[in-house]
Amino acid sequence: MARRFTLPKLVVATHNRGKAGEIATMLSPFGVKIVSAGDLGLPAPDETGTTFEANATIKALAATRASGLPALADDSGLSVHALDHQPGLYTADWEGPTRDATVGMRRIQDELRARHVPETDTARIATFHCVLALAWPDEHLELFHGTLDGSIVWPPRGTGGHGYDPCFQPNGDIRTTAEMSDAEKNAISHRGRAFRLMVEACFG
Ligand code: IMP
Repeated sequence: MARRFTLPKLVVATHNRGKAGEIATMLSPFGVKIVSAGDLGLPAPDETGTTFEANATIKALAATRASGLPALADDSGLSVHALDHQPGLYTADWEGPTRDATVGMRRIQDELRARHVPETDTARIATFHCVLALAWPDEHLELFHGTLDGSIVWPPRGTGGHGYDPCFQPNGDIRTTAEMSDAEKNAISHRGRAFRLMVEACFG
């Protein structure tokens, strides 16, 4: 049985504004006061894990230890099947030192071209992953994993969402996740799915 969340305040342990915004919107119905790791000036820990679960755990525990508050962390990434599931854990690194997602999207396209992967949905299958780690101040931890399957499209399309959304088209849709409203994206996304699992287990 998962532990119920009954505390009044929560740190969202991400320095990524796009992810923090999506998480804050999803938490808004639950009456929990949210502060971000950035607001509290918490340092971003090194992500030394070898799985999304391990890195989400590192981030959540670092934030709860530094703040004394419960913390929710997200570790996420994009796995492109024809690139041996890269960039995966290194999705943020592919954005380069300035964390510019257009750099990361271009690199995915260049690597697919270098491998002569045809520009068809079936050849360019990709999966977004999101692991949420919810940590209590006594270091109790609950983990939730959500995925979204789709394909890499080129050129990128749309101005919504964040990160790699303009080059990701979910299966069964003709739009990229950057061409959807926030509500439409959250209804199907890897983060939305992980979030609903967490709500059911801990906030329901
Ligand atoms: P993290 O902050 O270390 O977990 O890195 C996550 C990486 O995945 C960043 O490069 C994000 O831009 C990317 N990413 C995660 N979730 C999404 C999403 O919902 N849309 C687009 N890119 C995402």
